[in-house]
Amino acid sequence: MKVLILGGTREGRELAALLHRAGHDVTTSLAGRVTRPAEIAGAVRIGGFGGIPGLTAHLTTEGVDLVVDATHPFAERISANAVAASQAAGVPLLRIERPSWSEHRLANRWLWVADHDEAARAAAGHDRVLLTVGRQSLDHYRALPRVLARMVELPSTPLPPSWEVHLGRGPFDIDSERTLLREAGVTALVTKDSGGRLTEPKLWAAAELDVTVIVVRRCPTPEGFPTVATAREAVTFLNG
Ligand code: NAP
Repeated sequence: MKVLILGGTREGRELAALLHRAGHDVTTSLAGRVTRPAEIAGAVRIGGFGGIPGLTAHLTTEGVDLVVDATHPFAERISANAVAASQAAGVPLLRIERPSWSEHRLANRWLWVADHDEAARAAAGHDRVLLTVGRQSLDHYRALPRVLARMVELPSTPLPPSWEVHLGRGPFDIDSERTLLREAGVTALVTKDSGGRLTEPKLWAAAELDVTVIVVRRCPTPEGFPTVATAREAVTFLNG
C-alpha cells in the first residue's frame, strides 16, 4: 500500500517505522519548520503542498492509497486541508489524534483558556512564566517580562531581551521537568492541550511544586472519518 503520512510528530514517526517494517511504501510529509528533523523510516518529503489543490494533485499524481493525518492537534490548517483533499482525490483518510488532556486527572486544577491571548493575560501577574507553546505562538506573550521559553529551535524574529530561552527537543522526564521548574523559579506554566503521555511529565511536576498551569484549549477537529489515538492503533485499524 502506498501511504502518505502527514507528520511532524512522534506518532507520525512511529507509524512510518511500523508501516515501513511491514513492507508498505511510506512517505512522510513534513512542513519544514525545523532545520534538523528527527530521523524517519521510509521516504520523506519536505514543504507545503500549496493548499487543498496542491495536496489533491499530489495524492492523485503519486497514486497514494491512504493518507494518515498524524499532525499535531494544533496543526489545524493542514488537517482541514487533508480532509478536503482526500475527499476531492477519493483517497481514504485516517487521523491519529492524541487524546486531549481535558479528561486528565489534574485537569480541574488547571486554568483552561480559549486562545493564546487569554493565556497571556492569565499569566501576566506571575513572577516567572514557563512557555511551552511552540515558537510559532510566542508573539502573543511578548508583553510578559520574566519568561523562560522552551522550544526546539529559535524563531526567526528576535525574542524580548528579558526572556530566557531553553532549547531542547522533548520528551522530558519528570525529574528534568521538576529540576527546570524549581531552578528557574517558575510560578506559572503555559501549555497547549497537546494531550497524550509524551509531554505530560511537566504537568505532574507543576502539580508537585504548586505551579499554576494555564492550558490553551484545542479547536474542534474535523469529523467524519476514522480516528485513532496512537500509531499502533492505526496499524491495528489498517490490518482490520
Ligand atoms: P498548519 O498551521 O496546520 O499548516 C500551515 C501550512 O503548513 C499548511 O497549510 C501546509 O502548507 C503546511 N504544512 C503543515 N504541516 C505540513 C506537513 N506535515 N507536510 C506538508 N506541509 C505541511 O501547521 P503547523 O501548526 O504550522 O504545523 C506544521 C508542522 O509542525 C506539522 O507537521 C505539525 O505536525 C508539526 N507540529 C506542529 C505543532 C503545533 O503546535 N502546531 C507542534 C508540534 C509539531 P500548504 O497549504 O502549502 O500545503
